[in-house]
Amino acid sequence: MERLDKLLASTGRWSRKEVKELIARGRVLMDGRPAGRPEDKCDPQSAKIQVDGEAVDCAPCVYIMLHKPSGLLSATQDKKQATVLDLLPEHLRRRGLFPVGRLDKDTEGLLLLTDDGPLGHDLLSPRKHVDKVYYARVDGQIDEEDVQALSEGMTLGDGLVCLPADLEPLGDGSECLVTLREGKYHQVKRMLAARGKPVLYLKRLSMGPLKLDEGLEKGQWRFLTEREVQSLK
Ligand code: URA
Repeated sequence: MERLDKLLASTGRWSRKEVKELIARGRVLMDGRPAGRPEDKCDPQSAKIQVDGEAVDCAPCVYIMLHKPSGLLSATQDKKQATVLDLLPEHLRRRGLFPVGRLDKDTEGLLLLTDDGPLGHDLLSPRKHVDKVYYARVDGQIDEEDVQALSEGMTLGDGLVCLPADLEPLGDGSECLVTLREGKYHQVKRMLAARGKPVLYLKRLSMGPLKLDEGLEKGQWRFLTEREVQSLK
């Protein structure tokens, strides 16, 4: 059980002071009845809270699937450049969301954003081995030797040792799917460049059980369904 004012303020839409004001003016309904006092307790999972007649989602954590476009940083803030958080409305930006794992500025595709620290941490943990599938277009043609090299686990020129990865050529071989079980800096680009097939375009298609929703245009986002959230835990 949580205090009503704390819960409403945690949505990022109002400050604690504003929440008190809303409650005092009878603009907050809890399970259909005007909320009494800011310190009243409610269950964040089950309470139905409305402000000015509009339902407010007070779930303790937020999970967002974003179709990242090229040109934005996977960071929470940057002094000079736009970040993926700039695609979200103000009240969500204020919640302290962070991207679970990074995509390069020019990489597109699935990015999960959440304020669930433990889940984010867990998904990135090397012990968890969450598969990430990328679609890549390369300069050159992927052949059997490339597939073999990635499947054995490459050691890159700078000494980076990569876990075995799956490589599946598509079409004429200038396109492929790469499945990684880890997420080192520029990893797909570095592995394919080391094979003499530099990446021209990269897009993440999935992360563990979570697949990029094809209905999302670049730059669009949606909340994860309850089932998707559970599948990540
Ligand atoms: N590998 C890369 O090289 N870049 C990304 O953005 C993700 C994986």
